[in-house]
Amino acid sequence: MGDRLLATSTVEGMPSGHGARRTYEVMIIDSHVHLLPRRVQHDRTPFCRSDSAFGSIYSSSKAKLVSETDILHYMDRYGIEKAIVFGFPWEDPGLVRENNDEIWSFHQKHPERIIPFAVLTSGQREPSLKEAARTLEGGFAGFGELAMYHHGWRLADFEALSPSLQLAQMKRVPVIIHVNEPVGHHYPGKIPVDFRGLLRIIKAHAEVDFILAHFGGGIFVYALMPEVAKILSRTYLDTAASPYLYDPKVFRVAADIMGVDKILFGSDYPLLPLSRYVKQLEEAGIDGDMRERILGRNLADLLKLGKDNDTSGLVLGTDFGRSPSEAVECREDS
Ligand SMILES: [Zn+2]
Repeated sequence: MGDRLLATSTVEGMPSGHGARRTYEVMIIDSHVHLLPRRVQHDRTPFCRSDSAFGSIYSSSKAKLVSETDILHYMDRYGIEKAIVFGFPWEDPGLVRENNDEIWSFHQKHPERIIPFAVLTSGQREPSLKEAARTLEGGFAGFGELAMYHHGWRLADFEALSPSLQLAQMKRVPVIIHVNEPVGHHYPGKIPVDFRGLLRIIKAHAEVDFILAHFGGGIFVYALMPEVAKILSRTYLDTAASPYLYDPKVFRVAADIMGVDKILFGSDYPLLPLSRYVKQLEEAGIDGDMRERILGRNLADLLKLGKDNDTSGLVLGTDFGRSPSEAVECREDS
């Protein structure tokens, strides 16, 4: 990686006993940040009514919504150089499109910092594939966070993703899937996940880099089985929400099983800021190379940031620079 990517980042928000500020020689990239459409930020009430999945998570005022400015302030405050930003998997395909378009415009305003990922509508194969093609043709850097909040991930839901995953494979972009633990306490957004269905779809798309959010709901434990390890050989785990879910030991255990290159810092901002994850890393005694990899280098490698052919700070699709609205519609034969 070039020197230009090794920015010095100051991580604030440390517990006072540790001193107010610490400096890390590391490029921090957040792999998991949510931005919802402006009219939803303005008044979420009608959307809570019209979209039961959205309502199940966001009807509580504890579920914060943030603006583009909030995200940039967050990144600046914590020395986060780049972030993958995405919306919500709305049931209404029109709202998915609107959310993706606003993500794209945020990226266009800050191409060096905002890495746009496209959400897809939940459960409707046709609109979902159309939007998948539109966004990837337009230059989005991946899909995510894909989720099935209203009834959970069933085998049929994973299978319905297949055509979009083929597009991701063609464009060589990663796919972030929301996965949560099948056991433990309940929280808004916690859904049943068919692990067998998940492994089946990952196996069927062996050339796609999957990022399973929230430490993959613990699925990595099964990678101690050789046949599962083989299936998960290109699968990454993000750390989103881990301070709410796991003992800090999870970082080392997951890295031991999956490989240290497979763990990606993701905050789920505005749910939690970077400092909570840094605290977990410290509690787990993770520093040096391992910390640097988790906080950004692994994702930089995955997205090929800073490689020779990278002129904008990002390696995006061939149609980079074009508005996704102008991109070609999904062709039947593609
Ligand atoms: Zn999630």
